[in-house]
Amino acid sequence: MRPYRYTSILFILLLLVFDAAYFFAGASVWWAVALLVVYIHSLVLGAIYIRWNFYIKSYSKSTKQNLVALTFDDGPGQETAAILDVLKEQGVQAAFFSIGKNAAAKPELVKRWNDEGHLVGNHSYNHGFNFDWQTSKKMAAELQQTNDAIKAITGKTPRLFRPPYGVTNPNLARAVKKLNMASIGWSLRSFDTTAKEPKQLLDKILGQLKGGDIILLHDTMPVTREILTELIVSTRKKGFTFARIDQMLDIEAYV
Ligand SMILES: [Zn+2]
Repeated sequence: MRPYRYTSILFILLLLVFDAAYFFAGASVWWAVALLVVYIHSLVLGAIYIRWNFYIKSYSKSTKQNLVALTFDDGPGQETAAILDVLKEQGVQAAFFSIGKNAAAKPELVKRWNDEGHLVGNHSYNHGFNFDWQTSKKMAAELQQTNDAIKAITGKTPRLFRPPYGVTNPNLARAVKKLNMASIGWSLRSFDTTAKEPKQLLDKILGQLKGGDIILLHDTMPVTREILTELIVSTRKKGFTFARIDQMLDIEAYV
């Protein structure tokens, strides 16, 4: 049972306690309002913080303290080819969570991901702002469409899914379960999509880096490509070894 169920049950119980207090002891209605505000607040935070595992269990960190993993979202994009060159040069295997429509538009890069030993995961088909407001049926259809697009290129059906924006909710949990997929979060968010200064971004990531971390990056960002070699070299100097998330978490990457 996920935390949102406990939270909902607790909310209902507290509401019953309030009802009794209201009718028998004249408790203020504001207690009910406060209760509702706290409940809604927890539902929203549970949706935003993927690491809470509130609606769905997401793998966000490994217990293997000597390993770290690189993950890239939103591609294939304008920096994917250059990022692949760096990873090849450095001998690092990473995970790429692909937006399905981008995969369909740039199949040669999806092929490169797979041929060069990287993991190819699912990151929805459209990555629209309305993704999380859809029915679970529509979400499942998007996930399936992305899996189909990737399978047509690599011959493998992804099992790992990273929720767009890291937002989860009950409908998404149902869709992921329906397709027998697993949700992947992160433990180190680089915020590379909003970073202006390469040096600042690099220092921030290296300053936060711990063993077992899953690092969130984007292969659509020039700044990410710019810091990648230095990030890999410095991470290794700290004594960490790069691993693919499926190896780091001992889970299956494909169905
Ligand atoms: Zn994304």
